[in-house]
Amino acid sequence: DLYQADNNRYDTMQYRRCGNSGIRLPLLSLGLWHNFGHTNDLEKGRELLRCAFDNGITHFDLANNYGPPYGAAEENFGRIFQQDFKPYRDELIISSKAGWDMWPGPYGNFGSRKYLIASADQSLKRMGLEYVDIFYHHRPDPDTPLEETMGALHHLVQRGKALYAGISQYPADLTARAAKIMKDLGTPLLIHQPRYNMFDRWVEDGLLVELEKQGMGSIAFSPLEQGVLTNKYLNGIPEDSRAKKDGRYLQEEQITPEILEKVKRLNNLAQTRGQSLAQMAIAWLLKDERISTVLIGVSRREQLLDNIAGLSNLSFTDSELKEIKEILG
Ligand code: NDP
Repeated sequence: DLYQADNNRYDTMQYRRCGNSGIRLPLLSLGLWHNFGHTNDLEKGRELLRCAFDNGITHFDLANNYGPPYGAAEENFGRIFQQDFKPYRDELIISSKAGWDMWPGPYGNFGSRKYLIASADQSLKRMGLEYVDIFYHHRPDPDTPLEETMGALHHLVQRGKALYAGISQYPADLTARAAKIMKDLGTPLLIHQPRYNMFDRWVEDGLLVELEKQGMGSIAFSPLEQGVLTNKYLNGIPEDSRAKKDGRYLQEEQITPEILEKVKRLNNLAQTRGQSLAQMAIAWLLKDERISTVLIGVSRREQLLDNIAGLSNLSFTDSELKEIKEILG
């Protein structure tokens, strides 16, 4: 069936400026790390992407090695893009990345110019795109000179293969150095993609301050701690959950009784706010204006709709914030 995007798709979603750039991003963005591999149902993936866009989610986040197998998420996204989203290309911000292991040998990992440029070309081919909107270096590389890695991002932008450049998981000091190099080259970094959620707050220790100083935006990944910051694990490990189904990145053993105790208390607090815990965990990130957008994953349409609905209550009372702080310890 021919996809016709919802005419009301921009009516309720809110957009936030990404740092000092011209780009505004939806408060929620959708990531394709999980649920878009060749082991997943393509039609379910299509349903998720359509639902997201119909609700004003204009940003889809990918990487070279999302799958399984590596490359599969980009291939599947490309297939759906060609069939459904091609007429809407100019309404979309599509990102990809390179920096983790992708292909064998010395040139398929980390941060060399050789790797980044080859990988970007492969990603464009898999997705059938002429350019991505954002291309990221996926993680710091301790051995490659930062000038080389940043030079490769600059090159991709100069060549029109990416419109903007970003970095992921760079600590604050390295972010400052990267930002300086890119400013000098004339391609200011648009955005930083850090892991950030109630249980993982490393960005509060210097990174967010640095991003503001540099005029960079940010996109918080794994905002729900891969699903742990929801009510789903409170009564055991459901069969259809990431911890049970997948096990690559979220293992059952990681969901300890101590963590579940905190989740339970957070869930109670969310209920007093009239929210699901997922909604509260997202709102808690967005209360900070330095977070341009929260990058969720979803395995079902209902989760996506739940997360979107939560955007109508983003404010916290002082006593709620105090209680959260106390629960998190
Ligand atoms: P989340 O923390 O949002 O976890 C997603 C999981 O949470 C879903 O698969 C689902 O679990 C569960 N979930 C989501 N919404 C709800 C809800 N309303 N109620 C109950 N459960 C819910 O994010 P991800 O870890 O998936 O990461 C998001 C994106 O971030 C990735 O797709 C990727 O684009 C990016 N990322 C970037 C990285 C980087 O290094 N730059 C690394 C990791 C991710 P279930 O499947 O069990 O139903």
